[in-house]
Amino acid sequence: MLHITFGDGESHVNNITVSSLLFQSHLSRGTSYNQAIKGENMQDKSARNVYSTDAEAYLAERIENEAQNLFPQNVVIETTGFCNLNCIMCSNDKLTRKKTSMRWPLYIKLIEEIAIKASKETRVWLCYAGEPLIKGEDFVDRVCFAKSRGIEYLVTNSNMCLMTKEMSEEVVKAGLNNIFVGLDATTADVYSQIRRGGDYNKAVQNTIDYKEALVRYAKPDQDIIVQFIDMPQNHHQRDDFVEFWERYDIKVKVRPLITWQGSCDFDIKSNFDIKDRLACFWIMNVLPVTADGYAPWCGCDYDCKGPCGDLNKSSLEEVWNTTKKEHRLIHLAGKWEKLPEFCRNCRDWLGGYAMYM
Ligand code: SF4
Ligand code: SF4
Repeated sequence: MLHITFGDGESHVNNITVSSLLFQSHLSRGTSYNQAIKGENMQDKSARNVYSTDAEAYLAERIENEAQNLFPQNVVIETTGFCNLNCIMCSNDKLTRKKTSMRWPLYIKLIEEIAIKASKETRVWLCYAGEPLIKGEDFVDRVCFAKSRGIEYLVTNSNMCLMTKEMSEEVVKAGLNNIFVGLDATTADVYSQIRRGGDYNKAVQNTIDYKEALVRYAKPDQDIIVQFIDMPQNHHQRDDFVEFWERYDIKVKVRPLITWQGSCDFDIKSNFDIKDRLACFWIMNVLPVTADGYAPWCGCDYDCKGPCGDLNKSSLEEVWNTTKKEHRLIHLAGKWEKLPEFCRNCRDWLGGYAMYM
């Protein structure tokens, strides 16, 4: 059986990273790519088949360690809620909350607190429900500021359509530790079905240019990863995608679909029995902050249906150890009936325990 663990960091197998979105599912070294990803889509499986005994062991340890869990492993900062694309697997276009960009005073407040309280392993993300590069040079300034304050592990997602050679060099020199590029296809036609409004050739070229900037200017703790969200539209291109990016020595991350709390127009099929449900990684390990400063229920709560705090008034530590903790404890105790309806009925927790066979 594949050995799968969960947590921060990356483990690469033949240039492949197979993982869920934020919670990397590590395959042991020596596991081949074919072993890792062949088989059916995990969403067609019942819950018992999509998570392993490793997931349950991780959870047991996580429950035991909750008392020491005083700061989130992932702080996800929405520098902007605006996006230049309209991807089919994203709920950005369905947000009912107001889209805005984070004001600098709030950004500074968050970064200053993380710099003091976070561990070296804490990941700080510069995006949530939007495309951070839409802010142009402001994005570079935010990277510079966070790194100047000693943030060790600064990362972002991007569709890369708005990147330029000059900005690549600036971002790399500023010290961004990783950039996860959403591409999901190997041809322009499939790309355009998924990443509506994007330019496949431009995104690919910008990704290659960024890699060149890394080769020229990066420190060892900087990298780029291309991402493939496995879905019916592109499933047939998965192997080609991996082979294509191997040529450029760029790592690949494959992850299953997530509904973002059911806000997307597809269904994650699962026949799981409620007794098989596990506590959700999205609520246990992630503290997102929307551009206007609210802390959503979990990493998948794009629309902030379950606000847990206002970071304009509270600290990250306060929110994490009060409201968020109460919600984590409900999950850890398996008291599903006490969850709000959107969380009780949500299947996105399965994505956090993704297993590829
Ligand atoms: S580029 Fe990212 S934020 Fe924008 S629509 Fe696509 S998935 Fe959503
Ligand atoms: S199961 Fe609950 S905590 Fe997990 S992603 Fe869904 S809404 Fe969020």
